[in-house]
Amino acid sequence: VSELMRGKRGLIMGVANNRSIAWGIARACRDHGADLAFTYQGDALKKRVEPLAEEVDGLVVGHCDVTDPASIDAVFAQVEQAWGSLDFVLHAIAYSDKDQLDGRYVDTTEDNFTKTMLISCYSFTAIAQRAEKLMKNGGSMLTLTYYGAEKWMPHYNVMGLAKAALESSVRYMAADLGVKNIRVNAISAGPIKTLAASGIGDFRYILKWNEYNTPMRRNVTLEDVGKAGVFFLSDLSSGVTGEIQHVDAGYHVVGIKHPDAPDF
Ligand code: NAD
Repeated sequence: VSELMRGKRGLIMGVANNRSIAWGIARACRDHGADLAFTYQGDALKKRVEPLAEEVDGLVVGHCDVTDPASIDAVFAQVEQAWGSLDFVLHAIAYSDKDQLDGRYVDTTEDNFTKTMLISCYSFTAIAQRAEKLMKNGGSMLTLTYYGAEKWMPHYNVMGLAKAALESSVRYMAADLGVKNIRVNAISAGPIKTLAASGIGDFRYILKWNEYNTPMRRNVTLEDVGKAGVFFLSDLSSGVTGEIQHVDAGYHVVGIKHPDAPDF
């Protein structure tokens, strides 16, 4: 066990199960000595998050649904009561109606557009507002994004717009909070089979396509993203803010299908 993050206290938001990206990052931070607190969304996930938190000697600070500001306040009040301050926060939360993660973007409804933006973009800002108050000695905030923010991806639809706005919010908040030594960054992860990803139409095709066409000829793992998470949430990245870091086995440099890639 490394001592890199010893004494650092972090809030992890977005664990649904042991395949969640948030769990990959949490585990990696714990391997480097960090103390962790977890939120969960609703009773169904509480049962999943509690044993995982226990595995890493973490606290569970309660239910948080980002569409309910009172529940965000409540978990931050719990963190303040338990720790008095906070060193880092991980936001690994996104949502769009499953039936609109299929077909054409242009058919999105106003209701789903608004809901997707609120949960997948604004929630990071709402969380940052609360975290800023507890980051008395500076801190690090990290969110998760996807290449569908930069380029069209099949079925990603309104989530692509929400990720583009989320990435922009990283830059604006980095500028706002830098003077307090609070850093704000994002990891743009390659596709990983998680609960949220299974809602995206033809996700298996995207996984295969990436596996055959990334420079590294493989998909990324929770461990790959976890290690990058440690970089951003620890002092290793002390001079880095406003960054969108691809952790995608190099997929973002690819122009067209690799000539050696098999048909599938
Ligand atoms: P996941 O299903 O394990 O996690 C998504 C989390 O979002 C869940 O814990 C869920 O409870 C939470 N959430 C959804 N709506 C919420 C709400 N209203 N209030 C509070 N929490 C809410 O899936 P994941 O793939 O680990 O997703 C984590 C993040 O990573 C998301 O932002 C996702 O867009 C991003 N991401 C995923 C991939 C991928 O391929 N899996 C790639 C790049 C980025």
